[in-house]
Amino acid sequence: MKSTAEVVIIGGGIMGASIAYHLAKRGCTDVVVLESGEFFGLGSTGLNAGGVRYQFATGVNVDLSKLSFEMMARFPAEMDQEISLRQCGYLFMLDSEPDLAQFRKNVELQNAHGVPSRVIDVKEIAALAPEINLDGILGGTWCPLDGLVDPNSLLQGYVSQARKLGATLLTSTPATGIDVSGGNVRGVKTKDGTIATSNVVIAAGAWSGLIGEMAGIDLPVVPIKRQIAVTNEIPNLRPDFPFIIDFSRSLYFHREGRGLLTGKSNADEPEGFDTSVDEQWRLIHLEEAMMRLPLLAETELSAEWAGLYEVTPDHQPILGKLPQVGGLYSCAGFSGHGLMHGPAAGLLMAEEILDGQARTIDIDTLRYARFGAEADVGEYNVV
Ligand SMILES: Cc1cc2nc3c(=O)[nH]c(=O)nc-3n(C[C@H](O)[C@H](O)[C@H](O)COP(=O)(O)OP(=O)(O)OC[C@H]3O[C@@H](n4cnc5c(N)ncnc54)[C@H](O)[C@@H]3O)c2cc1C
Repeated sequence: MKSTAEVVIIGGGIMGASIAYHLAKRGCTDVVVLESGEFFGLGSTGLNAGGVRYQFATGVNVDLSKLSFEMMARFPAEMDQEISLRQCGYLFMLDSEPDLAQFRKNVELQNAHGVPSRVIDVKEIAALAPEINLDGILGGTWCPLDGLVDPNSLLQGYVSQARKLGATLLTSTPATGIDVSGGNVRGVKTKDGTIATSNVVIAAGAWSGLIGEMAGIDLPVVPIKRQIAVTNEIPNLRPDFPFIIDFSRSLYFHREGRGLLTGKSNADEPEGFDTSVDEQWRLIHLEEAMMRLPLLAETELSAEWAGLYEVTPDHQPILGKLPQVGGLYSCAGFSGHGLMHGPAAGLLMAEEILDGQARTIDIDTLRYARFGAEADVGEYNVV
């Protein structure tokens, strides 16, 4: 165990690994990542749906997606790791006038950022997704460049390359405390001793609020359970089946192997770290899923699991320096769409630490200081 480090990152999911890689790539290799799990990716990064999309409702989220997509396109060549990026398109289906109005605005914003998303009518939805029962659907939006990526390959690419460049990434090593004195971080405690440091990054996903407490600050990130199911092979399932979302139901489907993955978010799920599969919710989910996608009745589930969204009050991440304690940073609270923003967030955090400020994208609307200031709109396209 190192006794000092220039930067200590708490959490070995996509955020921690991406930050470590981007710091090391810029020559800052005196970096330690502490991961409490026995392996990397046992948190949300290894349990998510793999969706990657440009279709967001805030400019900064569209920019994070654009930067991440560019980085994912270069990933196999730069990182010596295939990531199975497949741009099958995201189809949002909408069943109310207010949602249609909001999504029209979102598409205008996305188009202004150079994203080729568009508003589509029910006829076009039927052509893109003939398998879907369109009862009640009024219209939707479509972006053919959205799609899927393999979360574990993305994570492993960053872990391997960060190590090759000289960063230290440890598993089974939880941070147990943060030393703060004179208003600055001084070190991070672990079971194997304290690592003295003047820079600590909170990248612990749904557990980030607990890490904030270790430093005596209130970081508003709460854990909320989200559940997913995967089916057995579905004969004749077309390879270009898109990522389809029934927005008002928070219900989604995409191709996973030779079958389908489906998820449905429970708006009434209480906060908490429990990740057991909710049998009651499974019934509600599958009944609605079969109503929308009747071909699901032809197959059986091969797997189901639950993971945690890391949710902030406005569904936007908290990025950058934290004002309460010198040398303390947050890269947390991506509210259920963090996998796709992990590449960009790692680059921006490396800039924030090494240059004093993120440069490639202006992250001011994502800084902690927004809480308590005039309320911003937050992200609307949350699934
Ligand atoms: C069901 C589900 C579906 C999702 N679908 C998508 C999707 O389609 N697309 C998308 O972009 N995102 C999706 N997400 C969200 C995405 O998974 C997260 O936003 C992202 O993985 C967050 O990455 P992270 O590194 O911040 O957190 P994590 O991957 O959770 O990593 C944090 C790590 O910190 C570790 N840790 C906790 N406490 C400590 C400690 N004291 N010391 C050291 N380590 C600690 C944990 O073990 C964990 O490994 C989904 C999430 C879920 C649950």
